[in-house]
Amino acid sequence: MTEGPAVLATMICRKCQQEKPEVDSYMQARDGYAPRRMTVCKVCHRARTARSTQERRRRARETRL
Ligand SMILES: [Zn+2]
Repeated sequence: MTEGPAVLATMICRKCQQEKPEVDSYMQARDGYAPRRMTVCKVCHRARTARSTQERRRRARETRL
């Protein structure tokens, strides 16, 4: 048996459309379902959550006024 190069499972990020190794996406666990890979890469996911957190903070500040 010969050892070839490790075959990495890849995914195409739905956000940036780039092919990335599957390990570059987060697993999403839901009650009652098997954990699934997210369809966006970690970079895009972080960018999105960071933006929505900022948005939420800004809105919270505005409603307080
Ligand atoms: Zn991406």
